[in-house]
Parts: sequence; structure tokens; C-alpha cells
Amino acid sequence: MFKSVIEAILILLAVFIGITLVRAIFFVPKKKDYGRPAPENVDRARAEKHLAEAIQIKTISYPEDELVDWQEFERFHAFLDEAYPLIKKNLKREVIDKASLLYRWEGADPALDAVAYLSHMDVVPVADGTQQDWTHPAFEGFNDGEFIWGRGALDMKNHLVCVMEAVEDLLAEGFKPKCDIYLCFGHNEEVVGSDNAGAFAIMETLKSRGVRLECVIDEGGAILPVKVKGIMNKYLAGVGIAEKGYVDYEVSVLEKGGHSSQPPKHTGLGKLADVIKDIEAHQFKSKLSPFIMDLFGKIGRNVSYPARIVTCNLWLLKPVLKAVMKKIPPAASLIRTTTAVTMAQGSPAANVLPQKSSVTVNFRQMPGTTVKDVENHIRKVSRNKAIEVKMLKGKEASGFSPTDSRSYKVLEELCMQANPDNIVAPFLVMGGTDAYFYEPICSNIYRFAPFVVDTNLLMCTHATNERAPVSILPEGITFFKRFTRRMAGE
Ligand SMILES: [Zn+2]
Repeated sequence: MFKSVIEAILILLAVFIGITLVRAIFFVPKKKDYGRPAPENVDRARAEKHLAEAIQIKTISYPEDELVDWQEFERFHAFLDEAYPLIKKNLKREVIDKASLLYRWEGADPALDAVAYLSHMDVVPVADGTQQDWTHPAFEGFNDGEFIWGRGALDMKNHLVCVMEAVEDLLAEGFKPKCDIYLCFGHNEEVVGSDNAGAFAIMETLKSRGVRLECVIDEGGAILPVKVKGIMNKYLAGVGIAEKGYVDYEVSVLEKGGHSSQPPKHTGLGKLADVIKDIEAHQFKSKLSPFIMDLFGKIGRNVSYPARIVTCNLWLLKPVLKAVMKKIPPAASLIRTTTAVTMAQGSPAANVLPQKSSVTVNFRQMPGTTVKDVENHIRKVSRNKAIEVKMLKGKEASGFSPTDSRSYKVLEELCMQANPDNIVAPFLVMGGTDAYFYEPICSNIYRFAPFVVDTNLLMCTHATNERAPVSILPEGITFFKRFTRRMAGE
């Protein structure tokens, strides 16, 4: 009896392995002919010149309005007028809020929902003391033939310039859109958690006019080369279909205080240490959302044969996958609300017992988890129920945009046409984008920059030696021209 059970198990196992080996052979991307679109004319030299000029204008945003040099934003507006005469002539332009811009390219059929291209004009400052570390000065826009250097080269004057070049070209070619096309350029995206976001003001303006958007394209994803020797040699075009929320909570323990010469066993800070441990020990639950499975499924189909024996059984490996991801911080951030205890404060002097001991904890919520859920979580996991919990700053996570909308499919098709080695997959954006504000008037929000940029270069954004490869400009302009033709021309 016992022997026959083992035999049965072994037979089943053999059958499973057999099926897997065969399944892995056929576990490949679905063959689809995406066709070849007509080549687009792109004025590469003009685009390079314009990106360099855009970088030279110091549109730096600060949380405090009085620190902002508004003249630089006026210069930027004037630069756009001069660089793109056909846009100036044919599109209606408004300055919204302090210095955001809203362009409207009127379509033939006012009943159709519009397409919106977002970009922010502002950049982050260069950190004090790091100016000398730049190979070429941050606001020179130096073009060495391979890269254009400077603050904003990748985040995201490159994107803005490509949108403008594409529209200018289409106007020159006599293209007439069927639906309205809006160019929405915010002036303070980099000011995290800004409650007076230019993007919000633009959305409110559009909403007040009854505008509905068919889709929004903004920054957030890019095309990453993924090269793992012997396993994969592809490009991952990540389309951000959602973004995480952000909230800072201050958690405090209140005590009487007093002189440190006669301390109790635990001061307020000591008690707070237990609270911190409780918070860190009770991480939020992780979940492999459908988009993660979609992402891994797509990647899994694109790895080489022996590796596919594993990846074709992702459904079976879900618990293992989750356990592994939880151990790797960047991967963990994709599957759960993250917790980071970042700042602490006790008494103001070494010989004073703290009356208020507090820590600031930064959470990045998964879509579906609210700011309030986070507060409840803190109160639940802390064994010390006398804590004070106060929200300092917060923003809800976005919703998920669908991957079966017309605009997503067009985006995917254009990527596949541009390079059959692209893998187009949805993913979750960790930081905030201006696109977030458009949810009230748009359901299809895609955070995607059509540029091939490797991780080394991405690390330079907001840092020293930010630079854009000149090769991304024709790719970007072509993408926006084609996307416009597809969404507004058919
Ligand atoms: Zn940005």
C-alpha cells in the first residue's frame, strides 16, 4: 500500500515535470504582426538645439513660492513661443495658476474625448556643494554629440521638447486632429506633496469646461534594457498604470519630563523605541496584484528555455515569489505599503527628560490602502495604546488604469513596432506624478516616457551629471507623432 502511494506520487511528479518541460517550450510571447508604420520625419538637430536651450533656463521649483525665480518661467514660456512658431500660431495657450501652461489644439469633432500630453517644466535644484562634480555645468545644456547634459535632461525637459517637436512637425505636415489635443505643462511637479499643484489647477480648468480626456500620457515609466547573460536580452517598456500614495505620520509618546538626574526606568524615548519596533515588526500585508502577475508573466515568456521551466509555473510559485520579493526592498515596494521610520526627536537638552518623544514614519501606500488605513494600522500594531498619532503630510494612492483601453493598446503597438524586442508591461510608479491630479477627468492614465534609458542614467536624475542620450530624441518625437496620428487621426 505504502509503496503504491509513493509510486503514484512519483508517476504524478514525472507527469508534471514532463508537462512542464513541454509547456516551457511553448511558453513564449504570443506571435503577433504589429506591422510597420510609415517612417516619420524628425528634425534631429532642431530637437537637440531646443533641448539644450530648454535646459539653460533655470526653471527650479521650491516649496516656498518666494524662493522661485518666476522670471525664469516667463523666459521658458517665451522660449517655447519662439522655438515653436506653428504651435504659437495654431494652438490656444493659457497660463494657468502661477506659471503652468495649457495648450489646446482644437480637433474637428468637439464631441470626442481629448488626448492630453503632460510634462512639467520645473526641475529640482542642484544640491549645494555638488556643482563642481558635474562634468558639464548643470544649466549649460552642453551637447557632446552623445549626450545633452544638464538638470532636466531626463526629468523631464526631454519629454516636453519631444511633445512640442512632434506637434510642430504634425502642424507643418498639415495634420488635422479629429479630437482636441491638450498639452499640459505644470510648473511645480517637483515640489513633493504641493497642495497648490499647477497640474491640479490645469485639471480644474479643464473640468470646469466639461472636458473629458480619453487618455493622459505623462512621465513615470521608460524603456529599460534588460540583459541577463544567457537568460534574457530584451527591453522592458514599463507603463505606469498607477502610483503609490505618500503619507508622513508623527507618532509620539507623552511623559511628564523632569530632570535627567532622577530618571525613571524608561524615558519617553525608551517607550517610543518599543513603538518603533512594533511598527517595523508589523509590516503591511503584501499582495501579488494582477499587474505584478501580468508583468512577471510577460517577462517569464521572454526568458530563454531552461529559465522558462521555472517561469511557466509562476502560478505555482506564487508563495515563493512573494517570499523572495519581500526580502528585496525594491521588489517589496511593488507588493506592499512600505514603512520607513525616518526622523526622531526627544528632549531639547541632554539633561532634560523628554516630555514629548516622537518619530516620523513615512509610508508609501499601495493603491487601495488609504491614508486613514495607515493610521489605523499604526494604532493597531502599537502595544502602547497611549501614543499620539498625527498626520503631517499625505496624498492618497492613485487608482489603476486599465490595460485594455484603446490608448494602452495603441501605446503597446507603437512600442512593439519600434522594436520587436520590447516587452510592454504595466507597473506601479513609486513616486508621485502630475498625472495623479487628472483622475477626475480621465480613466486611462499612463505614465510612460518612450525613451530607452538604462538604470545608470536613470540614477542621474535629481543627481549629478543628469544627461540625456541624443538618440532618445528621434525615438520620442516619432512616438508622439505616431500616437497622435493613431489617437486623433483615425
Ligand atoms: Zn519628473
